[in-house]
Amino acid sequence: MQLLRSLAISTRLAIQTPWRRRQLKRMSDQGQAPISVLFYHRVADEPINPWTISKRDFERQVDYCREHFELISLQEVQRRLDTGHSPRPAVSFTFDDGYSENCEFALPLMIRHRIPCTYFVTTENVRHGHPFEHDLRLGHPLPINTVEQIKAAADSGIEIGLHTANHVDFNRVHTIEELNQEIVEAKNNLEEMIDRPVRYLAVPFGLPQQMRPAVIETARQCGLKGICSAYGAYNLIGDDSFHIRRFHGDPQFNRLRNWLTYDERKNRRRPTLPDQDVLNIEPELAAKIRHPELAFS
Ligand SMILES: [Zn+2]
Repeated sequence: MQLLRSLAISTRLAIQTPWRRRQLKRMSDQGQAPISVLFYHRVADEPINPWTISKRDFERQVDYCREHFELISLQEVQRRLDTGHSPRPAVSFTFDDGYSENCEFALPLMIRHRIPCTYFVTTENVRHGHPFEHDLRLGHPLPINTVEQIKAAADSGIEIGLHTANHVDFNRVHTIEELNQEIVEAKNNLEEMIDRPVRYLAVPFGLPQQMRPAVIETARQCGLKGICSAYGAYNLIGDDSFHIRRFHGDPQFNRLRNWLTYDERKNRRRPTLPDQDVLNIEPELAAKIRHPELAFS
């Protein structure tokens, strides 16, 4: 099945490549080029799992992106959205979770090529060295970044972002206390760890059901500059720049290439985010969520 799907994508790419090139050129000429933000988790050769890409495959993707796209930071993604001008197709690299092995290959590669990169960590796992539940379930507890590694990455120019305190599923959060603990307190803790401001939050799982109004508003209120989803969408002129849309750095090269060369079908299938929230929250925050013009002005 996987092979068939991969074959279908290759065929579609082969047929559509000249047309897609013209389409990207037209969008660029109009200052409307799509901006793709990729998220990876772990770059390592073993054990391979759905959130790991091999070093060789990762390097191939980096080389492809360096050759065909402008590589930009999240701040620059937002600047282009805010100014309404995106003159070239661009890519921004991000990583989620905080796997120790990324310090062996992936991050040195980013630093060596001076590729802007944002690295999102889960603060309590870093602080205690606890492996992730999702790895324990597979029977492979994998090493987590240490505080020293995170600090060294920040010192080398990698932007460190927040991936909550406990890799929480915001769809299951029902109190303002937990929301504050996972976002506001975790942000403060991470800032202490790296001795610099933390500007971005990547929402664990990052699907529409986790991108709740209360989560977005809490992130905004505590001074974060942006919040990243992971459900797979482009950043296009006209989008709200506070919410940065990302898609998976798929280990299957053709699937990644299909995304990056702008697959219009993906854009047509964009999900809508929830506009109601059932969280038991403070009246002032609730008012802003019920009246988005207050919250998002
Ligand atoms: Zn995660």
